[in-house]
Amino acid sequence: MRWELKWLAWEVSARCNLRCVHCRCGAAQDGGEGIFTLPRARTLLDDIARFASPAIVLTGGEPLLRDDLHELIAHGTAKGFRMCVATNGTLLDDARCAQLAAAGVKIVSLSLDGASAAVHDDFRRQPGAFEGALRGIECLKRRGIPFLINSSFTQRNLGDVRAAYALAKRLGAAAWYMFCVVPVGRGEDIAAELLTPDQYRELLQWHLAMERDEKEMLVRPTCMPQYYRLRAEAEARGEKLAHRSLSFSTGGAKGCVAGQSIALITASGDVKPCSYFPEAAGNLASRGIEEIWNGAPLLARLRDFASYKGMCGRCAYLHECGGCRVRSLYAHGDALCQDPVCIPAFGPPEPACGRPPQAGFECPGRRG
Ligand code: SF4
Ligand code: SF4
Repeated sequence: MRWELKWLAWEVSARCNLRCVHCRCGAAQDGGEGIFTLPRARTLLDDIARFASPAIVLTGGEPLLRDDLHELIAHGTAKGFRMCVATNGTLLDDARCAQLAAAGVKIVSLSLDGASAAVHDDFRRQPGAFEGALRGIECLKRRGIPFLINSSFTQRNLGDVRAAYALAKRLGAAAWYMFCVVPVGRGEDIAAELLTPDQYRELLQWHLAMERDEKEMLVRPTCMPQYYRLRAEAEARGEKLAHRSLSFSTGGAKGCVAGQSIALITASGDVKPCSYFPEAAGNLASRGIEEIWNGAPLLARLRDFASYKGMCGRCAYLHECGGCRVRSLYAHGDALCQDPVCIPAFGPPEPACGRPPQAGFECPGRRG
């Protein structure tokens, strides 16, 4: 089977002007640029164009700390890629937006982790981050650049979910993507405040109900793969649910797609199955991107659903949901075990064999 790379996040800088509590790559103000000088970045874009045509999301750190970001976008645009930027928004101004638009940027994603300065700035550990992101959005709107909003939640800001959704809509976002923080990078430091299974379930149930009535803005929980189990269960009960997708998103009809249609390139050249996966499939210093995508053993393992273990391995929803491989790795020390959130939140799903779930679906390899 051919696995098509459809969405690629690329850390074009390890530096950041903020120090957010959940940063997956632990970016800091004194982080380096990484290995991607402009010539090297252009070469990588040329290499990608030889085998794939993904949407490419330039991220960091904070990508706008690079003065040559627009040149990178222009090169990718000339190669036919849909070039996107993921930013905290605080460095956007009219001049930068004009540069991005001229270079052909297709969409910009910004983070708003709450609907007020008090909530967002606490998450971002920077007074003024909320106002800065709102100013950035106004600049994008003046320039006619579409934008989407990502909101990440832990127990700390869970009370702001509905308000964050309403704010994204009021601002005119093309999409609102709801994330729950996974224990990676600085997210591991706040593992104690990650959502409980009950909170996780209630959040997804709220989202499913909200999405039924949301006709204007694309909404999707991201990296909460059991959403697709809930949808499949609702459809099995006879509900008709719309399937919508944005051409810049990581999917739209499936839960975990790590290493199946998405990947991350870090500022040091590591290629990872997704933005949160702690292990690399390879490094661009020693192998080309096409070789890694098509030949890395780690990616082959993630694509081999028959080798999944625990309840995920026997689950009727494996192909819709797939479970979060990062949470499995964190909980069990094995990325192919079951997602530790699923059963406490939703109960044992229907096994693929169709027989009622039996005891004994625990993962064999528990961490610690
Ligand atoms: S492993 Fe899958 S669900 Fe988990 S963070 Fe990565 S892409 Fe998202
Ligand atoms: S058991 Fe695994 S694949 Fe099945 S619904 Fe739960 S997390 Fe998803």
